[in-house]
Amino acid sequence: MGKEKARAKFLGKAEAVFERMWSWGAEHTEATLDEMAAELVPQRQELMGELLGELVQQHGDGRYEEVVCLDCGEKMKSSGRRRRKVLHAEGEVKIERGYHRCPECGRGIFPPGSKAPADAA
Ligand SMILES: [Zn+2]
Repeated sequence: MGKEKARAKFLGKAEAVFERMWSWGAEHTEATLDEMAAELVPQRQELMGELLGELVQQHGDGRYEEVVCLDCGEKMKSSGRRRRKVLHAEGEVKIERGYHRCPECGRGIFPPGSKAPADAA
């Protein structure tokens, strides 16, 4: 997804959070700060989780033509794509990335969770 599309998606969701919270605030005139935060936090986590997911994809899908194993130097093999849900303090991040495995030592990489060699592109 390109920058403008990602920006539009993010801002649309941020605006929806604002609208929901504003309406909620209008209906809960006696709400305490903690109650407001309790209403807002899950929405913030959902929004930030999606943004983190977009940032992970910003430089590609994690599939590389050639990746050399950092442990043993063997050429790694692509194992297609894998999906993971990562629970982060900012929210749940859904990640779908290329996965590579070393046929020699079994090391796997799922960038950016594990570091890919600097020359991988
Ligand atoms: Zn290896």
